Amino acid sequence: MKKLLFITAAVLCSHTLFSWGFYAHRQINYYAVFMLPPGMLVLYKPNIQFLSDHAVDPDKRRYAIAAEGARHYLDIDHYGTYPFDSLPRTWAKAVEKFGKDSLQKYGIVPWHIQTMLSRLTNAFKEKDQVKILKLSADIGHYIADSHVPLHVCSNHNGQFTNQQGIHGFWESRIPELLAATSWDFLLGKAIYIDNPLSFTWKRVLESAAAADSVLHIERNVTTQFSADRKYSFEQRNGQVLRQYSTAYCLAYDQQLNHMIERRMQQSIVSVASFWYTAWVNAGQPDLKQLVNKNFSDEDLREFDELNKAWLKGQAQGKDCD
Ligand SMILES: [Zn+2]
Repeated sequence: MKKLLFITAAVLCSHTLFSWGFYAHRQINYYAVFMLPPGMLVLYKPNIQFLSDHAVDPDKRRYAIAAEGARHYLDIDHYGTYPFDSLPRTWAKAVEKFGKDSLQKYGIVPWHIQTMLSRLTNAFKEKDQVKILKLSADIGHYIADSHVPLHVCSNHNGQFTNQQGIHGFWESRIPELLAATSWDFLLGKAIYIDNPLSFTWKRVLESAAAADSVLHIERNVTTQFSADRKYSFEQRNGQVLRQYSTAYCLAYDQQLNHMIERRMQQSIVSVASFWYTAWVNAGQPDLKQLVNKNFSDEDLREFDELNKAWLKGQAQGKDCD
């Protein structure tokens, strides 16, 4: 009984215990660097560790700032059925139709990516190294989130269909299990994006179209596994944790026809291409000659505070990792 209580507590606390929730974001920013042209690599390659480590800052910020949560998702099904034409694609028209408060409530990820792109473009124009790196790490996160089907679906953790846990299963457990050994992330060169807003909406609609498969295939696979085969118990940091078993993960991945690998690959291409587009739109500044090369005390304090808020952590708004 004691053991059961302990396991239950560990599962309930899984949000803070499962440190691999950040794994995919870090990988996406990391591999995006290799798609950049030499004029950008000169800055991005030496800072690849920073870009990877700080890919998760926006998720940590959700523990410090209430407005942060809405930037990571869009409950697109709130606006009808695919292709959700009732939702205007531009921010101005969407605000006009629904009002800011309502848009915030159902998520703003496609528009927040555009805000971040313009901030990053300005940072390139100012040749401000610290800003370029921080904003590159951040925008990578939001772009990656927009590629996750359950970030574009109100049933984001299977809570309406008795599939609780599917969010972390799809975006954390399976990448953690398979990415390093079986998935290919060397993907060629970044492309210039002529129309970032419509590019973003294409990715969002792909995610929305895939959400149904993510959910119904999980239900199918569940019928093929008894509960004791669906889950396994693992020791981690001295705790016993329940998680989806390897056999179950492999079966799901197979039946999804490797969708998670493809969405992660597309995320990497998109992140690199947004970074590249910001640089081109800023006039391709020489990144060997930059100002503000060191993080200020204020920057370091901000990183520290994000970490503290996250470790203490009660997420404000909807959970997304
Ligand atoms: Zn997120």
